Amino acid sequence: MIIDCHSHLTGAAYSAVARKLNKTPFTAASLLRRMDIDGIDRSVLLPIGNPENHEVLGIATNLECLQAYRKHPDRLIPFCNIDPRMMYNTPEADLSELMNIYRDMGCRGIGEACAGLSIVDPRYRNLFHHAGQCGMPVLFHLTGKRRGTYGMIDRLHLPGLETVLGEFPDTVFIGHAMAFWGEIDGDLRLADREDYPEALIRKEGRLWTLLKQYPNLYGDLSAGSGYNAISRDPETGYRFLQTFNRKLFYGTDRFLSPKDPPPAILTFLKDARRTGRITRRAYENIMFRNVSRVVLKGE
Ligand SMILES: [Zn+2]
Repeated sequence: MIIDCHSHLTGAAYSAVARKLNKTPFTAASLLRRMDIDGIDRSVLLPIGNPENHEVLGIATNLECLQAYRKHPDRLIPFCNIDPRMMYNTPEADLSELMNIYRDMGCRGIGEACAGLSIVDPRYRNLFHHAGQCGMPVLFHLTGKRRGTYGMIDRLHLPGLETVLGEFPDTVFIGHAMAFWGEIDGDLRLADREDYPEALIRKEGRLWTLLKQYPNLYGDLSAGSGYNAISRDPETGYRFLQTFNRKLFYGTDRFLSPKDPPPAILTFLKDARRTGRITRRAYENIMFRNVSRVVLKGE
């Protein structure tokens, strides 16, 4: 069994971009075909609804993801994208009202959270509070940049993340992107935060401490960032996977055509298991047991 914690579809808004870039849309049918090729049983569908990147990336919205889910309820697990500025851009907004509507329609979490606000902004804090109340895990894209990109903003070594992890112990946080995964390395420099550093990891970074200390923090291994973190220094990567095997989720974040090779992260994790670098139990936890427990709550 394998569950992908991070997938997207392209939405109606993508067609214009696709035409311009000569790309093909990535529909639910494209995703399912790819899942069959890679042996993925189920995928979490993450909508994008934040103004920072929605129109640029053209990724499917909440309702578009729900439509796909209704056609394939056995294969797709929808999240909803609740922007912390929704409901009149105030930290007082009753976002539970909105979250419950989406939860009743089948959504199992919030994300991919891409709003370009500080992670300690009162509006994000309000979202974390309501997500905890509604039992909806928050999967977030983390960045260090205030402009020209998207994602929750935190400083080097993640002081803001630590603050909200402590402040909202009932909220599940699932971290993703370069500024998150770079923190696997204790020597991470400011200049490398939005990059894919290649250096060997000589010192355990902030992620080791935060994952150990906060039961409500998890890591999404998708995209170049997750793969880079565990493969740049494979020995350390295997140790990280084994140490935190109950805190990590397999994910892709890729629009792969049927001709593309399997995602690098899939090959890496399968090899780690085959060569005994990680235990079978650790492998299963990362591939599906953690998502089943934390997101699907054992259902
Ligand atoms: Zn994504």
